[in-house]
Amino acid sequence: MSECLFCKIIAKTIPSKVIYEDEDIFVFHDINPCAEVHFLLIPKLHLTNMLELQNDRLHISLMGKLMVKANQLAIELGLANGYKTLVNTGVNGGQEVYHLHIHVFGNK
Ligand code: AMP
Ligand code: ZN
Repeated sequence: MSECLFCKIIAKTIPSKVIYEDEDIFVFHDINPCAEVHFLLIPKLHLTNMLELQNDRLHISLMGKLMVKANQLAIELGLANGYKTLVNTGVNGGQEVYHLHIHVFGNK
């Protein structure tokens, strides 16, 4: 079993407020929201952060899928007037959880 917090959330050994899940990606509410709506999108594949991304079909399709789903869910959750996206990467990027994730947050 991975020691990664977000891998445990994907495996549901740690509970989360799930918004969406399919074979490739997992989406859940941030436990410490910084706006009315704040959720995280993650690939089920453990990637530490964007520094691990390769120019291959798998990574390109995963990142595209995450971004398209980010927009769809933002609209569904009331953010059709706009929202912020954030990806913290590595020590200098202020990353706290080392499983690649995209923040989406905003007020309705
Ligand atoms: P960062 O790595 O700095 O981009 O942010 C990690 C984010 O994960 C923070 O916004 C935390 O509030 C969030 N977080 C940490 N633990 C959990 C958890 N168990 N469930 C949901 N979100 C979490
Ligand atoms: Zn992980």
